[in-house]
Amino acid sequence: MEPNPQVRNILTDLNYDFRAFTIEHFANWIETIKGRKILLIPWQMPSGLFGAWMSDGEIPQEYFFFRKNAERLLQIHIQLHELSHYLCDHPTKKITKKQIEEALEKGIALPFDEMVKLRSADKSAYECEAESLASLIQEQIIRNSQIEQLTRGISSDKKVADSLKNLGLI
Ligand SMILES: [Zn+2]
Repeated sequence: MEPNPQVRNILTDLNYDFRAFTIEHFANWIETIKGRKILLIPWQMPSGLFGAWMSDGEIPQEYFFFRKNAERLLQIHIQLHELSHYLCDHPTKKITKKQIEEALEKGIALPFDEMVKLRSADKSAYECEAESLASLIQEQIIRNSQIEQLTRGISSDKKVADSLKNLGLI
């Protein structure tokens, strides 16, 4: 599938040096460009869902959830896919830090269903766009660096840990 030119432009406009790629480094780059904090959060996803992106409605922060019990390479792919939705400016669900706290502390589910519904009208177009941007990104990673970099740094995710600490979640 040939990515549409807009998707290619999004990647070009990022002006990211893929030789430096780790998922963290890439997320930091996007943080700087967008001026919003990015949290990559391993999560117990509902069945059938591998990842989700939700936006904080109160503070400049974006949450990217990815399936906790998935293979590393798949986890990276999920994160790139969700980041791609963000980079493509797709609509998403607004939540608050408090909702995440309640999800962690009281097991109150995050509104994943609503998020899925939000995009249902144009689901395939959004999914296709996000998936082609994620593929372009992966192509660049592989072209510019060693394959092992694709998974480097994911397990010791200090920044996530620090962020969760700042939120008072751990
Ligand atoms: Zn998607």
